[in-house]
Amino acid sequence: FFLKIYNLSIRKLPSMSASICCRCNEKIWPRAVCSLGKTYHPHHFTCKECGLVVDPKLFFAVDDDVVCSECYLDKHAARCSACRTPILERGVAAAERKWHEKCFRCVSCSKSLVSASFFEVNGYLFCKAHFRELFSSRCAGCEKPIDRRAVIALSTKWHAKCFKCHHCRKRISAREFWIENGQPICAACQTVVPSPRNLSAQ
Ligand SMILES: [Zn+2]
Ligand SMILES: [Zn+2]
Ligand SMILES: [Zn+2]
Ligand SMILES: [Zn+2]
Ligand SMILES: [Zn+2]
Ligand SMILES: [Zn+2]
Repeated sequence: FFLKIYNLSIRKLPSMSASICCRCNEKIWPRAVCSLGKTYHPHHFTCKECGLVVDPKLFFAVDDDVVCSECYLDKHAARCSACRTPILERGVAAAERKWHEKCFRCVSCSKSLVSASFFEVNGYLFCKAHFRELFSSRCAGCEKPIDRRAVIALSTKWHAKCFKCHHCRKRISAREFWIENGQPICAACQTVVPSPRNLSAQ
């Protein structure tokens, strides 16, 4: 919870006692608003930001002073990194940012990430599957993401199983292959003078 709501008591003072209003330094009688260790005339129980009289039943405490709910929303409430509106109900804090619990979800599939693993990129949240799909490297053969072994060839990455001869679709040795029109071909299909290339597997 980011929200702090303080309740206070409105007391009728005994007629002989005198309290001093912390706003005007005048005696308070007969009714005082007591809050956060200070006493106020009811008409001096004012917001420290806008100066308007605050409803003593609902206000916010900022630095031990009184702030009305509008000023609190405007100036002090944490804002959600997703929808940019103030967070008043339950919030989630992660990676030095805050979100409404309801806004803490994958921007691709809207799945809630509150109890799931998540990835944050510039304030955008992704579930594991969509982070992988969008940010990991893709196979030049099947265009799906590569997360484990990749064959690096022709300046692109391939799944080992997707690195196939363009003609016969057989898997090509990770050690040598030939190129025809930018596509890998196997030794059996190559018709030009052999030009073996070394591959590195990662
Ligand atoms: Zn006063
Ligand atoms: Zn105010
Ligand atoms: Zn939000
Ligand atoms: Zn997702
Ligand atoms: Zn592939
Ligand atoms: Zn072939």
